Amino acid sequence: MILETRLTSESPLAISVRRGAGFSLDTLHHIPGNAIRGAIAQAYLESGGSVTSSEFQRVFVAEGVRFQDHRSDGARPWPLSARQCSQGLEKHPYRDLLLAAATGRRLLEPCRWCEAKMERPQGFYLPLGQVGEVRAVEISVERQMHSAVDPRRLSVLPGQFHSSRTRKAAQNFEGRLVAKDADSLEALESVLERGKSELTLGRGRTRGLGQVRFRYDAGEPTRPESVRERLQALNAEFGLTDWVVFSCTFCSAALFYDEWLRCQSQLSGGDLDPHLADYECLSAWTGQVPWSGWHAGAGLPRPELWMIAPGASYLFGRRVARDRVDEREQELARVAAVLHRLEQQGVGERLAEGFGEMIACSEYHYELGRAGSADRQAGGA
Ligand SMILES: [Zn+2]
Repeated sequence: MILETRLTSESPLAISVRRGAGFSLDTLHHIPGNAIRGAIAQAYLESGGSVTSSEFQRVFVAEGVRFQDHRSDGARPWPLSARQCSQGLEKHPYRDLLLAAATGRRLLEPCRWCEAKMERPQGFYLPLGQVGEVRAVEISVERQMHSAVDPRRLSVLPGQFHSSRTRKAAQNFEGRLVAKDADSLEALESVLERGKSELTLGRGRTRGLGQVRFRYDAGEPTRPESVRERLQALNAEFGLTDWVVFSCTFCSAALFYDEWLRCQSQLSGGDLDPHLADYECLSAWTGQVPWSGWHAGAGLPRPELWMIAPGASYLFGRRVARDRVDEREQELARVAAVLHRLEQQGVGERLAEGFGEMIACSEYHYELGRAGSADRQAGGA
């Protein structure tokens, strides 16, 4: 029940990080799912669709569809546990600290090729064909300048000069729209057919910013075996046979409330799903980002929330009896099935807006972690 979607920007694009204040505004480097959701709803209503129609109700009101974030060429944000050489950048091996932190390995080792300090890569990466090989994604951003206009004279207002960072035009953003069931998919397709294929997104629309062309194709869901294979590989790399571990890496911002309805960034297995309640957090590389928006229905700004940052990475684990191989295999199969479901539906709150998009047992925690352990052995020899 998935549509693979592609947005191509036909003019520069400025997506606000938070409510605009001051004379210099920044832009997000990806298109959040909730911005796409709002733009598709607007295009549908402008082409004569009605908010009371069954398709609108099913897609937007009953939240039958998740609008996931769209990123340059379908790239993923770097895990917050990833490290790169500060001198050799892409040429020297990457490292990942998620497993290293849980197993008590040294975290502050320098680059094994040139001894330079390791630092956290910014932005996005794309997995390449080779297992464990990745490429950092270039983000092209420019700055637009304009003066304020005096509404009485319709001329330039002296002393008010604004600058706004934008993503350049002619960029591709890829992502997914995930329908809960066949009826929601059918409703989504009729919403998209009625709406226009040109959408407007972000700020500066009256100055021509934010024009994007929208295309979609039927997509394939992740196979359950793929999650099982990643889970096995992560556990093999972790190396302790009396443990079952899994990781959760966020591709989008994620929202979890604690019992006082405050945003939380520390998670346990039970926060992801009740079926994972006996898993404790062994290692967490996390951060928070501010998030606000505009409530079109109320005509009011939404309150600002501090969400878990895209790229936040967690390792969860649980002890199992060392000599009961069957029991461990059964537990791995059970966890793989839960994680497969969570990858499809997301975790946390406000899933329809694309928050809580996660990858279970991302290859990069064990492929890059392996480079780290080889490094450690070389250092110890
Ligand atoms: Zn280096």
